[in-house]
Amino acid sequence: EFTANPLPSQRTMSSSLDAYWMPFTANRQFKKAPRLLARAEGMHYWTDDGRQILDGVAGLWCVNAGHARPKIVQAIQAQAAQMDYAPPFQMAHPQAFELADRLAKLAPPGLNRVFFTNSGSESVETALKIAIAYQRARGEGTRTRLIGRERGYHGVNFGGISVGGIVANRKAFGTLLAGVDHIRHTHDPARNAFSVGQPEHGADLADDLERLVALHDASTIAAVIVEPVAGSTGVLIPPQGYLQRLRDICDRHGILLIFDEVITGFGRTGQPFAAQTFGVTPDLITTAKGITNGAVPMGAVLVKQAIHDTFMNGPEHLIELFHGYTYSAHPLACAAGLGTLDTYADEGLLTQAGELQGYFAEAVHSLRGCAHVIDIRNIGLVGGIELAPRPGEPGKRAFDVFLDCYERGVLIRTTGDTIALSPPLIIERGQIDQIVDTLRGAINRVA
Ligand code: PMP
Repeated sequence: EFTANPLPSQRTMSSSLDAYWMPFTANRQFKKAPRLLARAEGMHYWTDDGRQILDGVAGLWCVNAGHARPKIVQAIQAQAAQMDYAPPFQMAHPQAFELADRLAKLAPPGLNRVFFTNSGSESVETALKIAIAYQRARGEGTRTRLIGRERGYHGVNFGGISVGGIVANRKAFGTLLAGVDHIRHTHDPARNAFSVGQPEHGADLADDLERLVALHDASTIAAVIVEPVAGSTGVLIPPQGYLQRLRDICDRHGILLIFDEVITGFGRTGQPFAAQTFGVTPDLITTAKGITNGAVPMGAVLVKQAIHDTFMNGPEHLIELFHGYTYSAHPLACAAGLGTLDTYADEGLLTQAGELQGYFAEAVHSLRGCAHVIDIRNIGLVGGIELAPRPGEPGKRAFDVFLDCYERGVLIRTTGDTIALSPPLIIERGQIDQIVDTLRGAINRVA
């Protein structure tokens, strides 16, 4: 049993909690009763006071191979000792090429060019910029419009919140990008509540894109971006046929299709990418999170070769894309990425969600009938359990369930009144039971 490296007690900490402005956190409430994590290994965290917490969300949808995996730890340590940093502009290091090559081999056919970033948000900005620049490079410079979807989450930078469809993430920040429009989301509890896997109804919602083409004209539209499974707005699974229909409409009108796979990438749905699970190939894929198992910040955009090659036509000495980050292909991130892909491969983790999804689906759907549960959604190793909001207090009921689970040693996540589960792919059946049993108790206690 692990005894936590003692951090100062919460009481002594309280005078020093002020400086850290925590992201996406109710800071004042948190600082009255902080939740501090001090160690992680395998399926578990340990709190600063030594309590063991079963990780039901892979950190934040990212630690797909579980925590502190030896090959990843060793790769980072060795790289830090050998070369801490290398400039990525007009220079490179071998691991960057190796990682790109291995990612290209995992990707759906044709998406074999890789641009490195440091986060999901940066991957989104990069993909949007590549899409617009590509349209211009192929002589379609009027195609600058970007289409997102209601309830989409594409990170927090200006492009991402503009194409994103989460009102709270947009409303405080001004006018955002011009020339953005949205299709409707696919959440339709009236027809699809308690669907196991892909819901039956809603492929026709893709036709919203036809309406926007009619409204704006295809010649103004560069790209459409959607999450194959919307994660941060409550685990919305694409209806059967929906993604293919989007693909068809994009093809008909010369519009690029971007899948934001920051959550769904790296095995979450039973294949390396959700594009493969759903059998629909986009033109660009944004990734992050599971690319390094969460251990070092990194993201990547996977790009169809034909798009990449369009940039490669000018004079050879010219920079083809004026875009990049100081930390693109950072050596520590590349090392972590290689250690991560090794770990995924050694243990067959990128298809493990497919092996477990039947068991997982049955477990999460067993919560049907618990107090205030109005919908349950699942695919691969991701699940959403939606509660009816308490009148006048949206999100509060689910958050109380989160607090109750945390007290009882299980980490879940909530978004609005939906409880999200996305455990590390190394989870065992008994641990799925532990999460669901703890949730069942918590939902009933909170009710
Ligand atoms: N896109 C999607 C689909 C995401 O789920 C997230 C993060 N949850 C992001 C983008 C942003 O990633 P990051 O927080 O690494 O910037």
